[in-house]
Amino acid sequence: RVAVVGAGVSGLAATKGCLDEGLEPTCFEQSQDIGGLWRYTEHIEAGRPSLYPSVISNTSKEMSAFSDFPFPEHFPVFLPNALLLDYLRRFAERFGLRERIRFGTTVVSIRKRPDFGTTGQWSVVTEAGGKQTSEVFDAVMVCSGNFSEPSLPLQCFPGIERFRGQYFHSRQYKHPDVFQGKRVLVVGMGNSGVDIAVEASRVAAKVTISTSRGAWLFSRVFDHGYPWDMILNTRLMSLIKTNLPRPLSWWLVNYKVNKWFNHENYGLQPEKSWLVREPVVNDDLPSYILTGRITIKPGVKEFKDNSVLFHNCPEEEPIDVVVFCTGYNISFPFLEESVVRVENKHASLYKYVFPTHLQKPTLAVLGLIKPQGAIIPVAEMQARWVTRVFKGLCQLPSQSVMEKEVNEKKKNQIQWFGLTFDEVLKTEWLLYLDTLASFIGAKPSVLGLLCTDPWLALTIFFGPCSPYQYRLGGPGRWEGARQAILTQWDRILKPTRTRVPAGSSSSFPSLLIVVGFLLLLAAVIFGF
Ligand code: FAD
Repeated sequence: RVAVVGAGVSGLAATKGCLDEGLEPTCFEQSQDIGGLWRYTEHIEAGRPSLYPSVISNTSKEMSAFSDFPFPEHFPVFLPNALLLDYLRRFAERFGLRERIRFGTTVVSIRKRPDFGTTGQWSVVTEAGGKQTSEVFDAVMVCSGNFSEPSLPLQCFPGIERFRGQYFHSRQYKHPDVFQGKRVLVVGMGNSGVDIAVEASRVAAKVTISTSRGAWLFSRVFDHGYPWDMILNTRLMSLIKTNLPRPLSWWLVNYKVNKWFNHENYGLQPEKSWLVREPVVNDDLPSYILTGRITIKPGVKEFKDNSVLFHNCPEEEPIDVVVFCTGYNISFPFLEESVVRVENKHASLYKYVFPTHLQKPTLAVLGLIKPQGAIIPVAEMQARWVTRVFKGLCQLPSQSVMEKEVNEKKKNQIQWFGLTFDEVLKTEWLLYLDTLASFIGAKPSVLGLLCTDPWLALTIFFGPCSPYQYRLGGPGRWEGARQAILTQWDRILKPTRTRVPAGSSSSFPSLLIVVGFLLLLAAVIFGF
């Protein structure tokens, strides 16, 4: 019996993963419906993320799918939140997940049973309708999300106590009418910050974004109009990124991201440009900067009564409303600190999933990771691995090995990513998926396929690493995986090629280019 906490993306993946492995999941969801973050409501619910109505996914539908359940082909390439929720509902329906979820039930405490050392069991106390119930579970999957506890470090903003304007955290933001005719300051330049600034600038008198670190900005519309993640998250790209000498790969990243526009000229160049930064995905910001609707400023030095002073800028800027887009804290109020300890927004978990020090590996955390790609396939892969660990079909390394890796990772992340706030959670999407897939025997073998199914092998290597790749073999193999991979570009073109029928000619651009290039190379080599 497995207790799953939360019925968002991760909780659904966990519940389905348990069912696939013949485990008995009970999913507890404190709200009245599935979807977590993706279920927009006008009022803000405690303990659940709060979206603004205009949120559109920044990862494409082919890269964001559960690996055995592609998005409907008529869905747009990037998904407005209501359609993403629609997809999650279809997923829950298709795999009979709703029957496993107890809605309106909050998990209030999870404690080791006295005989934990031998049984690995947990006492889970839940509350529903004011009544508490305690049940015993063999294992627990924590899928409670990490976007519901705002981080608002006001102590870092001198003078904020005397600022007479209005200020709030991005979690409070719903509609742009609060900015009508106002001078707005957005502090922080993550995805939400940029989205909110763009929306505000359509009605506000003036909009300024303050960022001390800058950011790399991507458009959803990447090379030749294809989705950014389908072009960048390929096995070929990953191989290049991880094997090129570091200076060369940084140069390449710089070159690639500055092709759309020069970040320095737009005031966006990341402070330490050699560090990998989570890209901000927004199609409008450069043109809004160009047309003067949004101005980029450095970090805030001080708030005054009705204005703000920025670092390295002598003039005060009059401001009426401040939106702090300063991220979120992570917490597990139902767990003891001795089970999962959070420090500087970082929980020391092996592969971001397992506490390293439990006598029995019967508790796992899902979705506590910010990969540079879609979260659904990641949470799903975590669930597939975790359920096999619970069943004893996959073993974890010894505590010391896990701890060493967690600490190494922390150190490396500091070096590679620059540890600030939650950056330690950012990781290379494809490598991470491959690692977990290899644990359960679901990593596709490109070389093996080259002998048996060369077209598929080339598609897998040069094309986007769509999640269906992890259902070609191993546990949870899906018959439809090959077909889903070979038709991924069709589902991308279907909702956009609405005037001229979709032809096959442009359905796989990067592969054609690469094959053409290889043929040319072969011709040159053999020609001489
Ligand atoms: P959540 O969606 O937060 O779900 C957690 C659930 O647990 C909630 O339903 C909550 O009610 C429940 N819960 C919490 N505590 C308890 C408890 N004690 N008892 C019972 N139930 C509990 N990712 C992408 O891949 N692509 C995107 O385009 C993308 N866009 C994003 C845009 C925004 C604005 C934000 C904030 C995030 C975005 N993300 C995106 C990341 C996003 O976090 C994931 O897509 C995903 O929704 C996380 O799902 P989750 O299940 O881990 O958490």
